[in-house]
Amino acid sequence: MGDVSPRDYYDRQLRVPGWGPEGQKKLAQATVLVVGVGGLGCPVLSALARSGVGRLVFCDPDAVEVSNLPRQTLFGVDDVGLPKVDAAAAALRGANPWIDLDPRRVRVDSRNVRPLVEAADLVVDGTDNFVTKFLVHDACRAAGKPLVMGAVYQWEAQVTAFPFQRNEPGCWRCLWPQAPEDGCVGVCADVGVAGALAGVAGNFQALAALRLLLGLEGPEACSTWIVDAADWTPRRLKWKPDPQCSCGHARGDWSWLDLPPTEAPWDAIAPVDRTVVVDIREPEEILPEEWAFFEAQGSVVVHFPWTKWSQSRPEWNPQRTYVLVCAHGIRSAAALRTVPGEIRALSLAGGTASLLL
Ligand SMILES: [Zn+2]
Repeated sequence: MGDVSPRDYYDRQLRVPGWGPEGQKKLAQATVLVVGVGGLGCPVLSALARSGVGRLVFCDPDAVEVSNLPRQTLFGVDDVGLPKVDAAAAALRGANPWIDLDPRRVRVDSRNVRPLVEAADLVVDGTDNFVTKFLVHDACRAAGKPLVMGAVYQWEAQVTAFPFQRNEPGCWRCLWPQAPEDGCVGVCADVGVAGALAGVAGNFQALAALRLLLGLEGPEACSTWIVDAADWTPRRLKWKPDPQCSCGHARGDWSWLDLPPTEAPWDAIAPVDRTVVVDIREPEEILPEEWAFFEAQGSVVVHFPWTKWSQSRPEWNPQRTYVLVCAHGIRSAAALRTVPGEIRALSLAGGTASLLL
């Protein structure tokens, strides 16, 4: 690195009002957890690393795919096939050698969310599914850790910050008391997203996170920043806490984590004897080698497309364990909610895309 020094590296931001050497020290002492290293997580991590956040913990179970590259700016063509967290760590190491990086190739789930959130000073959500978003949100709320959530949808980006460390009312469940049915709102893979928009949302998330870490005014509780690239009008939507919401007494309540897991990766499911894999995808989505993979590990595969569940579904046998499978674990999580409570069933976390075939 020759005679490059951190003082020179951070020079321009040290001149920003409210930042300065004191602020830089606060950032250097901070640990931020970033959940998901995708279209949002990449710009978030890049900005936080270059700003000098002392320790970045980032989680993602997936490998880089070529369709990620238009918006996942930490990766290049040569990274396709590599674990995202490893490729991201290499890029971030080159961007700022003075910070600690802690890449974790894991899906954040009900088993690991608590220690991950408790070890962080602030959490940034960069996921694109409601199951994980609600899990991370509820964990931050219980732990009293500030959370910055982001979402992109076609031409629209949304960012909401929840300063849970202040222990004031106002949370995501004030707006959505129950998690919306997954599959009722499209994810990137289905509805599309403009790559540059992910950069807008992710960088705004990073800005909100930095202001929280620096202890500066804003981002406000109970407001959502929305930008629609089609009409050039950024808006701040102010909303009211719901007095009926559980957020008034959520701090320290982790009892909800004792619920049995509703999803698991294949590694955790495969050893279960007499597993029935219920493939709920449409016929044209299914590859023969995927069924061969399940069958080779001792599972029976049956096919009930989700679109036809109103007409037909498996005859549940309480002696069996069922694994509902779709492409990304979104539809199967929705289908799981229709399975009778006495039946042992799980959704395959991440769907067939998570299988290492
Ligand atoms: Zn609430």
